[in-house]
Amino acid sequence: MNLVFLGPPGAGKGTQANLLAGRVEIPKYATGDILREAVRENSPLGVEAKRYMDRGELVPDEVVLGIVDAALKSPDAERGFILDGFPRNVPQAEALDAYLAQQNRALSAVVYFDVDDEELVRRLARRRVCPDCGAVFSLRAETSEVSDRCDRCGGRLEARVDDKQETVRNRLRVYHENTEPLLAWYKNGSVKLFELDAIGTVEEVHGRLLSAVGCS
Ligand code: AMP
Repeated sequence: MNLVFLGPPGAGKGTQANLLAGRVEIPKYATGDILREAVRENSPLGVEAKRYMDRGELVPDEVVLGIVDAALKSPDAERGFILDGFPRNVPQAEALDAYLAQQNRALSAVVYFDVDDEELVRRLARRRVCPDCGAVFSLRAETSEVSDRCDRCGGRLEARVDDKQETVRNRLRVYHENTEPLLAWYKNGSVKLFELDAIGTVEEVHGRLLSAVGCS
């Protein structure tokens, strides 16, 4: 199962990728997570990427392509993979096809997570992450309260720097301009494209995902 999860920021791709990756025992590669890790480590890659990430802009293709090429070549990815947050524009999608072709492989399917902008803005304002283990939480809409500690590891929860309202608006603009055209690109291609209604509870969306990819 070689999957791409496509959709706007806050659509739930990461949450659903974690659940599916655990269920079918294949790795998930989220370029955003890998870049944030590099930022935390203050590596040269992280220093370069941070300038773009803090503004909600795309990190240059050559930086991201290096990460994905390495991930796809790792032995773990031989059984399959889920790419979350990559590709984010047509040149990245073309590069992905080329990497896979070199390995005599191809995508099995692309899953598109459909959520409207107003819901995304609401979701991202409520998102809190654990900087220690990467777990993602949502403030309860009705109370705006969540424990400030991670359920899993006890880390102190925080909002992502790029989940500030003005940056979110920019990320959505960047998404519509660069990433949304991939929907038409994949529709015109030969890979199966599943369009999921990604509004609902995590469990509801997961049920739709499992039936789309034939895992239920
Ligand atoms: P995400 O966690 O997927 O929302 O990504 C966070 C940030 O990382 C994005 O706003 C971009 O700055 C950067 N990023 C992640 N994936 C990519 C990608 N495929 N291409 C370019 N930039 C990316």
